[in-house]
Amino acid sequence: MKKHNFSAGPSILPQPVIHQSAQAILDFENMGLSIMEISHRDKKFVAVMEQARSLAIELLGLEGKGYQALFLQGGASMQFLSVAYNLLEKRAVYADTGTWSANAIKEARFLGDIDIISSSKDQNYNYIPKDIVVPQDADYFHFTSNNTIFGTQFKEVPSSEIPVVCDMSSDIFSREIDYSKIDLIYAGAQKNMGPAGTTLVVVKESILGKVSRAIPNILNYQSHIAKESMYHTPAVFAVYVSLLTMEWLKQLGGVAAIEKINKEKASLLYHEIDRNPLFKGFAATEDRSLMNATFNLTNEGQKDIFDTLWKEAGISGLNGHRSVGGYRASIYNAMPLESVKVLVDVMKEFERKA
Ligand SMILES: *Cc1c(COP(=O)(O)O)cnc(C)c1O
Repeated sequence: MKKHNFSAGPSILPQPVIHQSAQAILDFENMGLSIMEISHRDKKFVAVMEQARSLAIELLGLEGKGYQALFLQGGASMQFLSVAYNLLEKRAVYADTGTWSANAIKEARFLGDIDIISSSKDQNYNYIPKDIVVPQDADYFHFTSNNTIFGTQFKEVPSSEIPVVCDMSSDIFSREIDYSKIDLIYAGAQKNMGPAGTTLVVVKESILGKVSRAIPNILNYQSHIAKESMYHTPAVFAVYVSLLTMEWLKQLGGVAAIEKINKEKASLLYHEIDRNPLFKGFAATEDRSLMNATFNLTNEGQKDIFDTLWKEAGISGLNGHRSVGGYRASIYNAMPLESVKVLVDVMKEFERKA
């Protein structure tokens, strides 16, 4: 039986996408070859890459605004470094809102001065700082739009006169924001876009080419743009499945349509966390993520009862990250409302039984 997959990442994909991918593993577009054994220079894959790049821009509403999309390897973690290589001359400023922001800061410090202008570390990252003032004399401002581990999410892009860089690994394509307020977006595929192995980078070309350092080609956005995201072998299968997921999203009505569904799922779940006396939320109410809901039991002693119930209901991947404990329900784009209802029913049953 197919599980209700609440895993934080790699995570759930749309069921039709999994079936289409399975078919392409057996025979890709009637070529008599698997998607896993064709050349990335084959014209059928070149077309996949072109479509994936343009659809990413289209879904974000960034057509004709000077942006380029790339599908790179090395994960979001490689981007922590690439961003600094390409944009950091002397000093950049970061918001520290969780483990991933902290890792981004650590990596950028290999290349220059990084100032943390805002942090929620004092309360184990359970909120989003509200008072962010981005200085005008830094090279760029970096933030993490959705903190996958802690379940907090920026509701707006902080205003900034300098280039804005955003790690959107766990909420890319999940809601309508003015993406043109962000100059460089990056996102590992494995949360909300596809399988592990590729990372989407969407960058405004005009911010590139301004640093004095020599940039190794593999980290240089301009060399990837010049080669149309084929500077070296891309992650063929991961890019293909990401394209299928983006096509699924477009058919559904795009980012605006999925945002409505995502809000419905999140409010159903948070309503139960707030209503049910056996649960308490982790993240500050006004900063709660639409993608990752973090919560604990009010009485840890009842853990075995709850764990048995959700496992019996076919739920998988609900355990919280070790740095937060408790539970985390990741309800990415591909998660159906029905699965969230199953979880909420289990929470109600737990209240009756415990
Ligand atoms: C998962 C995650 C990462 C790390 O991604 P990798 O692809 O494993 O390097 C970075 N940032 C955020 C917000 C994440 O959720």
